[in-house]
Amino acid sequence: MSEVTVKQLADVVGTPVKRLLEQMKEAGIEVSGVDQAISDEEKMKLLDFLRSSHGGSNTEEKGRKITLKRKSISELKVRGTGRSKTVNVEVRRKRTYVKRATPKPEETPEKVEDVLETEVQSQISETPEPTETSKIIEPPAVAEEPAEAEKPEVVEKPEVVEKPEATPSSEEPEKAKPTESPAVNKAPLSKSAQLAKQLEAETQALRQAKIDGEEAKRKAAEAVRLKVEEKAHLAEEKRLAEEQAKRKAEKTGTKFGADKPSAAEKTKTKTRRKKATSSEPTRYGRRELHAPAGTGNRRKKKPVKRKPVVDAPTRHGFEKPTAPVVRELALGESISVVDMAQQLAVKSSEVIKTLMGMGVMATINQILDQDTAILVAEEMGHKVKIKDAGDIEAELTKIVTDDEDHEQVARAPVVTIMGHVDHGKTSLLDHIRRTRVAAGEAGGITQHIGAYSVETEHGKITFLDTPGHAAFTSMRARGAQVTDIVILVVAADDGVMPQTEEAVQHAKAAGVPLVVAVNKIDKENADPERVRSGLSKLEVIPEEWGGENIFVNVSAQTGEGIDALLEAILLQSEVLELKAPEAGRASGIVVESSLDKGKGPVATILVQKGILKRGDIILSGQEYGRVRAMFNETGKQVKSAGPSTPVEVLGLSGAPNAGDDVIVVESERKAREVAKTREDNLRESKLVSQQAARMENLFKQMQEGDVGIVNVFIKADVQGSAEALRDSLNKLSTDEVQVNIVASNVGGISESDVNLALASQAIMIGFNVRADAAARRAVEENEVDLRYYSVIYELIDDVKQALSGLLAPELREEIIGTAEVRDVFKSSAFGAVAGCLVVDGVVKRGNPIRVLRDNVVIYEGELESLRRFKDKVNEVQSGTECGIAVKNYNDVKPGDQIENFVRTEIQRKL
Ligand code: GDP
Ligand code: MG
Repeated sequence: MSEVTVKQLADVVGTPVKRLLEQMKEAGIEVSGVDQAISDEEKMKLLDFLRSSHGGSNTEEKGRKITLKRKSISELKVRGTGRSKTVNVEVRRKRTYVKRATPKPEETPEKVEDVLETEVQSQISETPEPTETSKIIEPPAVAEEPAEAEKPEVVEKPEVVEKPEATPSSEEPEKAKPTESPAVNKAPLSKSAQLAKQLEAETQALRQAKIDGEEAKRKAAEAVRLKVEEKAHLAEEKRLAEEQAKRKAEKTGTKFGADKPSAAEKTKTKTRRKKATSSEPTRYGRRELHAPAGTGNRRKKKPVKRKPVVDAPTRHGFEKPTAPVVRELALGESISVVDMAQQLAVKSSEVIKTLMGMGVMATINQILDQDTAILVAEEMGHKVKIKDAGDIEAELTKIVTDDEDHEQVARAPVVTIMGHVDHGKTSLLDHIRRTRVAAGEAGGITQHIGAYSVETEHGKITFLDTPGHAAFTSMRARGAQVTDIVILVVAADDGVMPQTEEAVQHAKAAGVPLVVAVNKIDKENADPERVRSGLSKLEVIPEEWGGENIFVNVSAQTGEGIDALLEAILLQSEVLELKAPEAGRASGIVVESSLDKGKGPVATILVQKGILKRGDIILSGQEYGRVRAMFNETGKQVKSAGPSTPVEVLGLSGAPNAGDDVIVVESERKAREVAKTREDNLRESKLVSQQAARMENLFKQMQEGDVGIVNVFIKADVQGSAEALRDSLNKLSTDEVQVNIVASNVGGISESDVNLALASQAIMIGFNVRADAAARRAVEENEVDLRYYSVIYELIDDVKQALSGLLAPELREEIIGTAEVRDVFKSSAFGAVAGCLVVDGVVKRGNPIRVLRDNVVIYEGELESLRRFKDKVNEVQSGTECGIAVKNYNDVKPGDQIENFVRTEIQRKL
């Protein structure tokens, strides 16, 4: 049944809209207007509300109350045994409302609930609940008679009757018939009347079902059938009990034979009763102190089984326990009072009382730290088990896997471009982005999202801009298989180079298929065949040569072949049959992260599964937070992101590491707990390893006398770079010299960074970041070795050569001047022109420049035009104003810095 609006419902029900709205409001259903759709759930809610508010006052609804009465009978029996929890029983009683819904067709559906019930009934009848409820009802033996009487009248009934006979319990209805002889029936006569009414109602339901259509009919019939079966079953058991009594009084041989098959059943019943009686005190009396979680389960089954032993007074026996129950409290970093109470199966007030006894005033939602929680739990006589990191991680994994039953849908491939320096990786990606990103956005593409979704004619592709191979390796090491396909860019004029080989190795190790882009085919000296033969030596064999790798000739310059390349990627991805659920809890991976002065921590997250929404609580490594805002690669705000979509996320507590998993957790509390545990663990393991290193070094130094340790402090623009540098530098360690990374962080270099470098006697490395004024002063004063780099291989080379003592003079860049952007003007000739003040050194035309924002490099390029007022000048000295236009870059903003540098030959030393 599809949803109806309030107005439609009012029409159907025949109630004024206004009154219906009032009723809905009272029932706690939020409606904004008469045209709002009402879900079935809401209808149920309204129905429940109306039923409870109409209460027992309505005489017309006697039919429904029959069951209620029966319910309370069973309850009474329970009470006869002594005190017992009835909460669950009451819940069941509520459910039976739905069952009882059926009688109403006899009456005119004046009341809202009646109509609602009809609707609800026809849908719900197939759900297991009503059937279950009917099990609790204890129908008298007569059950069968009226039903059968009705049969001829209802066309669809035959089906219903036949089915019970086919089922295992089929003999029972037959057996039930003899009991219907007047002699046996005397006692439950009044009940029989009630039952007749109820069955009639059920028949009505069947009729209704027929109107609703064949499918609904079948379901309703099934429900009735089950019910009839159940009743027959119960009736039989009851009959046996009665007969037993009867036999005691007057022993008749005739009926004995007919009863034979049920003799077994009888004995079963008997023994069950016996067992129950004898085991009761121990089973329930000793072990169960409160109504624990398991109670529900137990009850579900028992009412049915116990029915035959109605008269056994001990059946629901519940004795007060003689010894307190000792429970184990699984404790993380912290726990709320209410959670603790729940785990210990006590009331929250108990916990609060204990806390008060210890001099702590606490509220129900208060978070207790681990130490306090341990004290409280022990005070209450329970044990505590501290959840370790493993437990917590396992819990998280479980959260993710538990959420896996969503439908898997095809997703876009995630592609990484790799290849030797200058073979055209950046150019290729730029070309693809420039031509495939919607026109108009091309100019404003954000600089550092690190991942791009590209829409092609054949489908979407997500490109990952991984910062060098080392990062790719470390991502892989974490078991995060982000990349589906690697595009290996090889310049046709250059052929296979060392990093080409490295890329092949990486892709092979990760088991990721390779698509080769043979680039620069526009060049005269291009030799694509050489690339093919070169790569086939590395077992990357073109398809046309009988191998399994797709080779595409392209030119990032002219755009030739790029369509074919995209097609090849999509072809490859089709083969991979990439799928992910497009619903449910999101999980993914951090591609990049950084600290932004204005926005705070910014993380580029690639969603891998589910849907990431604004407002979700995410956890990544040691960082967590609520997703405050999300941006796509064009800088546009988005509300949600599905699989294979990269988004920039704001709202995390800090910048997570590139490659860290991201998952959505249910609460900030949970996120904080896990993050804290991870942080503590990491700190501990760091302390341990640092100490170990020191001791090791000490030992070595004592042995060899001259072990060199080079301490390095890395600051980088993004986590990916920091990590790649850390990994690469660590690998340079040999037996004689060791590279010790004191720290590696993201962001500009501050004074405290310099102090840390000083204290640890470390070389300070700024990768695409710069020191602020205070830090620069500290560097000068303390002669800290501060080096700026923007090419990872240069840095590694430097360190490598320093370690091996080969410090030959070589080209290095030197910053000769810095200008601060004060204002930006638009010029028709150059685009954006930055009005600047040269704050340091000298800015010279013809030198390369970099644009810095918050001491982080955001653009590197050429100085296109340098002017003082209207005149072109060749250089501008410190303290003077000038206008600077940067070639191909229009995103300069006031507050940015433009640094002018030269490459000079200097003697290096480390
Ligand atoms: P990366 O180091 O792999 O990112 O290489 P880049 O994308 O920076 O390209 C290096 C140089 O090669 C740049 O000067 C590009 O202009 C040039 N280049 C890239 N692709 C092509 C191409 O298809 N044809 C030509 N002629 N030059 C190209
Ligand atoms: Mg590049």
